[in-house]
Formats: sequence, C-alpha cells, structure tokens
Amino acid sequence: MCGIVGYLGNKDAMPILLEGLHRLEYRGYDSSGIATLDGKKLSILKAPGRISNLEELIAKKNLQGHVGISHTRWATHGEVTYQNAHPHLDASGRLALVHNGVIENYAKLRDQLEKEGHTFHSQTDSEVLAHLIGRAFDLLEEKSEQTLITALQDALRRVDGTYGIALVHTEVPELVIGARRGSPLVLGIGKEEHFLASDVSALVMHTRDVVYLNDYEIVALRPDSFTISNLQGDGRPYNITTLDGLAHDMDKGAYPHYMIKEIFEQAHTVHEAMRGRLSLEEATAKLGGLEMSNAQLRDIERIVLSGCGSAMHAAMVGEYLLESLAQIPTECEFASEFRYRNLPMTKDTLVFVLSQSGETADTLAALRESQRKGHRTLGICNNVASTIARESNGGVYMHAGAEIGVAATKSFTSQVTILTLIALLLGRIRHLSSSEGTKIIHQLETLPEKIEEVLRLHEEIEAIARRYASARVMLFMGRQFNYPIALEGALKLKEVSYIAASGYPSAELKHGVIALVNEETPSIFIAPHDAVFSKNISSIQEVKARRGPVIALGTEGHCAELESICDHVITIPSTPDYLTPILATIPLQFFAYYTALALGCDVDKPRNLAKSVTVE
Ligand code: GLU
Repeated sequence: MCGIVGYLGNKDAMPILLEGLHRLEYRGYDSSGIATLDGKKLSILKAPGRISNLEELIAKKNLQGHVGISHTRWATHGEVTYQNAHPHLDASGRLALVHNGVIENYAKLRDQLEKEGHTFHSQTDSEVLAHLIGRAFDLLEEKSEQTLITALQDALRRVDGTYGIALVHTEVPELVIGARRGSPLVLGIGKEEHFLASDVSALVMHTRDVVYLNDYEIVALRPDSFTISNLQGDGRPYNITTLDGLAHDMDKGAYPHYMIKEIFEQAHTVHEAMRGRLSLEEATAKLGGLEMSNAQLRDIERIVLSGCGSAMHAAMVGEYLLESLAQIPTECEFASEFRYRNLPMTKDTLVFVLSQSGETADTLAALRESQRKGHRTLGICNNVASTIARESNGGVYMHAGAEIGVAATKSFTSQVTILTLIALLLGRIRHLSSSEGTKIIHQLETLPEKIEEVLRLHEEIEAIARRYASARVMLFMGRQFNYPIALEGALKLKEVSYIAASGYPSAELKHGVIALVNEETPSIFIAPHDAVFSKNISSIQEVKARRGPVIALGTEGHCAELESICDHVITIPSTPDYLTPILATIPLQFFAYYTALALGCDVDKPRNLAKSVTVE
C-alpha cells in the first residue's frame, strides 16, 4: 500500500522516479507526486488521480536534479486532493517528505505544532511528520547530514504508528534519508547511485543488490555510499540480498491485465508450490522450512490460521483440510481481530500467518502478538524477503512469482496448495497410512493438468459474465470445502466489478439470504459431485422456485441433474472433495474478471483498493 521511490546518483532523478512509480502504482493510485533537488533548488509536482496526471504536469515543467523522492498514495487521512498528495513540506519549505503508513498521534502533534505557529496545508498525518522533523532540524545550530539524522531520530521518537519515509532537505542536498517502522522500505545499491523503494519491483531495472530495512532503521543514501543506523544512532549490520527472476514477473507480456496473466499462471504456480515438496518414498510432504521435527509436529494440539481478505479465505479452506486430513482442531482468525481478541491458546497451539506480500500490517501484528505470547508462529508468504518471512519462526514459501494484480488470484491457490501439503504432512505423522499418503500425492500431482483444463473454460465463462454484468446483487453459495470458495468468489467480484456480492454456505440460504432472490439476482453455486452434492441440488431448487438465475459449477460426468435445473453449468474436472477448492476458484476468478471488463472497470487498479495493505 503506497509506493515510495527515492534516487540519488549521477543520472537525472525524474525519469527514474517516474518509472519506479509506475512499477509501484499497484500499491496505491489515489494521487502521486515527485520532489527533486537541483543543488539547493527544491521542485515539487503532484497531482490527484493516476500517475498519468502527474506525467502531464511533468511534460509541461521538467524537473531537474540528480536527487529526488516520489510517492503514489493510498489515502488514509484526508481525501484525494492536490493538497493531500505527497510530498509534503515542513514549515520552512526546505524539507520534502513522502510517507507510507499512519501516524496515530498526529492530531495531538499537530495541535502542539499549531500552537507554536505552524500552519498546515493538508489533512494528512504525513504533513505533521514533515513539520516535526523540519522543526527538530531548525532547532539545531549546525546543518549537516548528521544533524538532519539527529533531527529525524528526535522526531521519530515522538510519533506513534507506522511509517516508511523518504526525505530530502535543501540544506543537505546530496542526501536522501529513509526510515521505517511497520511499512516496508528497501535500499537499492548501484554504481555511484543509490535507490530507495517500498518494493523491489521499482528497483529491479537498475540493480539486483538490495538491503531490506528492518523496523526502527534509518538509511542515509549518498551517491557513493550509504549508512544504516537505528533510532539511537548506532550503526547497524546489514545483509545485501541479490535479487533474481523478478523482472519477468513484473511484465504483463501479451496480457491486457496482470489479473488475467496471473489467473493463467496458476497451473504453473500450483506446481511450483508443490515442487520438491512431495516424497513418494515417504508418502508425505517434505516442508523443511517449518523447522520442526516430526516429534514436535506430533505434539501440536491445535492450529490457528490467520490472514486478511483472500488469505483468510485460504485459511478457512485450510481449516477444513487440517481437520479432515490431519484431524487437528483448527481455527481461523482475521489477523486484524487476532491481535486484539486475546484468543485462549493452549501451550501446544501452532500459529500460521498467511500473507502474499508478507508485509500486510494486520497479519504482521498478529504474528508479533502470537510470538509475544510464546507461540511458535510460521508464515505462508510469497515474498521471501518480506518482514513476515523474516520474523516468523519458519514457514513455507509460495514461489508463485510476483503478484501485481490487486485482486489476489494465484497467491490464493498457492496458499491452499501449501495448506494441503501441511495437512498431508501432519496427517501422515498422526493417522494417515502410507498408502493413503501415496494416494494423496498422486491426486495432488494431477492438479496442474486439471487446472489447465479449467483455464480452457475462459471463453465460456466470459459469455456468462457478460450476460449477468448488469446485475446489482449476486450470491455465491458452496458447502464444506467450497464454502470459503463462495466467500472468495464473492470477494473477487466485489473487488473488481463493485457488484454487491455475498458468499454463504448453501444451506444458509433459507435462513435469510433467500429474501434477496428474484429474477434479477443471479446465484452462483459451487456444486461439485461431492458428499453434499444432493444438498446443493436442494438449495438450487429453492432458488429456481423463486425464479433466480443459477450458474452452477459441476463435476465432469455428473452434470446432468444440474443442467436440467440451472441456467448455466460450468464443468470442472473430477477430483477428490478436498482438492475441489483449487479448481473451483479459477472459474470464479474468470467470472469476476470478465464481469469487470464488461462494466469497463479498471481491473488492475480497482476503486479504493491497493496491493499489500501496509496500514492497520
Ligand atoms: N497516511 C498518509 C496519507 O494518508 C500516507 C498514506 C499512504 O500510505 O499512502 O496520506
């Protein structure tokens, strides 16, 4: 959420900053802005709306300078206006700052500063931070790199909340400073140039050598060197990470949107989630990243899975998987609730946190709360260098490649795949026989091929989506393993097409939601040929009796009954019950995508959303 890019070196900063912003636009696209320093001359351009609006301004007034910072905003405090767009200035007008995160005590700080005579031009919490740092610097007699860092440390000690920031000051023109607490920030190391960004995707075109900053760290970038210190001013050791493989993922290729590209990648990404992790010899999954012995795994009494949005839905599938394959009592908690709920947990509770980016603020907070209580907490993330990946006690990576589409698609199926592997591993340690384990492995191995078959349904689904795109309300229904898929299907549709969609366990229909059913309200039933097939048929009949259009997802070879009562039947390959969620999700992703296209929605930049929610 929100993109920051900083540059200082021997090239013109503006094109580098702008390109970086384009790469980060998926993280926030309410407004954008750039500040450059040309000697002591500070120039700022900013614009509400998409980056193209900023580009129009740049076309009229080119920004000079080899030093600069930039930002693409996801508003938390203050509407989407010119004044609220970043960068923000301090009272002197000499310090420019961009910020990702939320300063929780900004109102109090703003009051204090106003009493001292400061005037604010925006409603943002970020402008308060700019004033606070500028004020601390102005109070210091000497104007140097070191005193600017000292001023920053003083100011940051006064703020509550989260920040990833980049700043420049005209008094120290050959310097960009970054700092983080809660919001990601990464340093890119070049030759006589350095970069700063909230995500490596803005850096991969320039350098492969990066340093991921930790909370409470401050980085000072000079053209030929950098230093990392903490809030106390002590130098910090750091690791240089070499990136590989990312550039390809950042490219849309021939696809019009990242979302559709990533949907089509799923045969591959599900395969990647399993690659090297299935052992036919031992008839189980091998997940070394868990860093737990079989004896420790056998001692687990209870599992808690925590995530937000689609990750929470994956967790809910995980609950069914872990309880049915491993028979371990499992509970799912929204990460945002977990941290405040004070869940009673036994000593042998194992916690998993799920986050594609590994930076989701609520999930990170849940991880820390769980660890504070002494629970081993493992991560299921895609971004291997993320904060959650670094701070968890172990975990499993998705290896799905960068996910840029704001609506999660391939990360969801990868998470469910990984949870299936975990359920297999824990099941085998407990009560699954080796022949049952072997059977599950064979079933898992057929998944990528079956996903390919589902992907071939896209045209058929596009036609159905177009037909119902004008609906104002849609209902998604599924049972057991596919109840979370109903929630996920509804979420996808809401996210990208803004149609009011709700997911329910099919049998809940008659307890209230059936009041919404009429000729204009399509219902989508996930009704594979599983243990509850006939129950789903009854629910479909109840909708048809009230003239509601029904689109059903059925299993190849078992669709005759569905075809006789439903308006449309989408056929997915036959697979055991516990694997249907992965296959059933994909048609719903297509459905959401093509509905959004039919409505002219911006699929990769849905209204009010942004990727990687790094604010609480
Ligand atoms: N809280 C700041 C604002 O609303 C920063 C938001 C962001 O992370 O983009 O402007």
